[in-house]
Amino acid sequence: MNLVNGDSAEYWKSAREEKLLFQKCSHCGQVQFPPRYHCAACWQAEPDWIESSGRGTVESFTIVRRAPLPAFRDKVPYVVASVIVEEGPRMIAAITGDNALDVKIGDAVTVDFQPTDEGETLPVFRPL
Ligand SMILES: [Zn+2]
Repeated sequence: MNLVNGDSAEYWKSAREEKLLFQKCSHCGQVQFPPRYHCAACWQAEPDWIESSGRGTVESFTIVRRAPLPAFRDKVPYVVASVIVEEGPRMIAAITGDNALDVKIGDAVTVDFQPTDEGETLPVFRPL
């Protein structure tokens, strides 16, 4: 599976450097994720890039106990969460760390980075 396209190349490049980037519209100020060619609020082309603090709050989560694919068998149980990041965007990402299964709605988390089987680096979050 190829995660990278023209709109997201900068995002994935920065993730490999363990930086979380969002796009910010120079016209209306909207901060957005995932990356797109235009601002989803005002349609201005080519939003700027900003680096996120990486801090966020768990909005919701689920614990996956049955692997959806054979490749996930050695990863269960794991947590997938909706995280509202400080700059505003919502990300669906894994919660990692020794206490990941104890996560609660409202918990403070910070970004971390994990290599994927495809050779990319995936932003994940760990409890603070
Ligand atoms: Zn805009």
